[in-house]
Amino acid sequence: MPLSLRRLSAAASLTCCLVLAPTTVALHPALAATPVPAAAPAPPDALTWHTDGPDVAEAPVAASQGSGPELAVSGSTAYRLNLNPDSTVVRWDACRPIHYRLNLAAQPDALGDVQTALQEITAASGLIFVHDGPSTEIPQAHGAQAESPLLIAMATAEGPFASELLAEASPHTLGIAGWGAARTGADEDAQHWQITSAYVVINAASELRPGSGAGLSASRVRVLMHEVAHAVGLSHVSDRHQVMYPVTAGQAAVWGPGDLAGLARVGTSAGCIGQQPPAATVPVDPWQLFWDWLLSLLRAWLGI
Ligand SMILES: [Zn+2]
Repeated sequence: MPLSLRRLSAAASLTCCLVLAPTTVALHPALAATPVPAAAPAPPDALTWHTDGPDVAEAPVAASQGSGPELAVSGSTAYRLNLNPDSTVVRWDACRPIHYRLNLAAQPDALGDVQTALQEITAASGLIFVHDGPSTEIPQAHGAQAESPLLIAMATAEGPFASELLAEASPHTLGIAGWGAARTGADEDAQHWQITSAYVVINAASELRPGSGAGLSASRVRVLMHEVAHAVGLSHVSDRHQVMYPVTAGQAAVWGPGDLAGLARVGTSAGCIGQQPPAATVPVDPWQLFWDWLLSLLRAWLGI
């Protein structure tokens, strides 16, 4: 069963660093620049949760020995999307802002990095994020029930900020994200699938390095960019030059060309969901209006 078919469950198959990265990719075999079916037909109006990750830091060189066969790098335009049961791309309605809340209690200094990551998503996709304020909720294995559609939380595997998602994952896990898609719309004939809620969990116990630059450890902004990109619909790729590669080390927080192409497919360039395009406006000819009015008067006078 594909990873994305697991309902309300975390993906716990990636348990260690670089060694198991090929396993994760194998769960998404059709790496391509085209959308890949990943969602099973769901009952109408059901909220289907999809969880990506856990995403891990690259292990020390010694630990990466013994990795499986290298997968072919797919090229610089690699990105992966998911498809709804009706074959549309899994994404938010790009014509409405995405409201989000933050739970930074476990790592209050992360605010600037969260804002930077969201700005990077906006710059690449056109999606607008609106901050609704703080939250005390931490996403768990069943998803999130946040007051706002998107919840971004700093959490740990245990303690007062515990998330089951991290507790069930490898201690190398840096972050996990998930989205829930539902069929929306009052009219049965005009319903459309779209993401209605999502969450991002960042492991506050991991040694993420604040900021966007390259360094010896993983950039917190890069990890946030990766997880929020999951939350707007992107999946993992096997091209290690993309932010959506499931393993990171000390790279700078800079989108790869495949990331940018994928974010464009889920952003404003993809258009609205479930909204009719504005009717084309036809220029009004004032003389035509005058003659129409005159003709109507003439017909009234003649009684025809
Ligand atoms: Zn990931």
